[in-house]
Amino acid sequence: NNSKVWEDVDIYFSDHLKTSDIVMDSILKENLEAGLPAIDVSPNQGKFLYLLTKLKGAKHILEIGTLGGYSTVWFGRALPNDGHLISLEYSQKHAKVAEENIRNAGLEHKIEIMIGPALDTLPTLKGKGFSTFDLIFIDADKPNNPSYLKWALELSKPGTVIIVDNVVRNGRVADDNSEEPSVVGTRQMVELLSKESRIETTAIQTVGIKGYDGFVLGIVKE
Ligand code: SAM
Repeated sequence: NNSKVWEDVDIYFSDHLKTSDIVMDSILKENLEAGLPAIDVSPNQGKFLYLLTKLKGAKHILEIGTLGGYSTVWFGRALPNDGHLISLEYSQKHAKVAEENIRNAGLEHKIEIMIGPALDTLPTLKGKGFSTFDLIFIDADKPNNPSYLKWALELSKPGTVIIVDNVVRNGRVADDNSEEPSVVGTRQMVELLSKESRIETTAIQTVGIKGYDGFVLGIVKE
């Protein structure tokens, strides 16, 4: 396969297009030293999320799945001064590393991490005054993708952007015999989208330093 050339091209673009810097690099270093799995988005993908946030002019962002806060900081950098991001993370350890990284990036005033299983914290958002978001990034445990999509729609308004990461899984998403829980969860989520009239969506396949994967992108209808 072409994985070597995919990696070379990814690195070529991140070297030339400022998709990394000292702060972003230090987050990856801290994550590695803390023993977190290297399953964050890549630098080019992080910059894409940053650009998408600016394109949308998003002020209120919800992220499901923080890890060490790498994607979180990309979003946080794109937010205006009065913007706000809530990130949901199951692991206390991951959240602690992320909080430190967010502080080092100078973004703690814009970002709040809620610790616990996302299916427990999502139902508390409305009561805390966060009833809708401009952009929602789903990147946690993939078997729960159908529930996360339902929650994302519940917390949306016309024009809300919803992104679901890692939906291709090396091509396994197209295998209707797969019993892999992540593939099954993602296929159930895509099934829901195929019947959902409230949102317009597409899916884009990606290659690069993170291998062969992709994301679903949608906008809630006016
Ligand atoms: N968005 C991050 C980034 O790009 O830097 C990567 C997130 S990583 C793929 C998925 C994260 O979701 C992990 O930190 C994991 O602990 C968390 N997670 C797994 N199950 C969860 C759950 N039920 N609720 C909340 N977070 C969960």
